[in-house]
Amino acid sequence: MSMLPLCPQCGSEYTYEDGHMYVCPECAHEWSKDAVEDAGDEGLKVVDAHGNALQDGDTVSVIKDLKIKGSSSVVKVGTRVKNIRLVEGDHNIDCRIDGIGAMKLKSEFVRKA
Ligand SMILES: [Zn+2]
Repeated sequence: MSMLPLCPQCGSEYTYEDGHMYVCPECAHEWSKDAVEDAGDEGLKVVDAHGNALQDGDTVSVIKDLKIKGSSSVVKVGTRVKNIRLVEGDHNIDCRIDGIGAMKLKSEFVRKA
């Protein structure tokens, strides 16, 4: 079940669906479902090295050795990273790697597992 979005105009939670449109009964605003889906949750669009879209909770693997700033540790190529979280910024994947801990990765250095 997908939740109906709040009305973007007045914030009403009584939105209902009408064909391809959402309708707000309070201010009579109508808008397209497609537009809402394209915008995504937070407007974050993160793709892996091959251009596949990534989502929160995905498992990815690292495609090259990555040095960790401020330490001598290296994340080896092929390391699997579970349950990623997408964030904004240059390093757009927030994750936790076994034996290393919490860190951030660039999506261009991973691929969807
Ligand atoms: Zn409204």
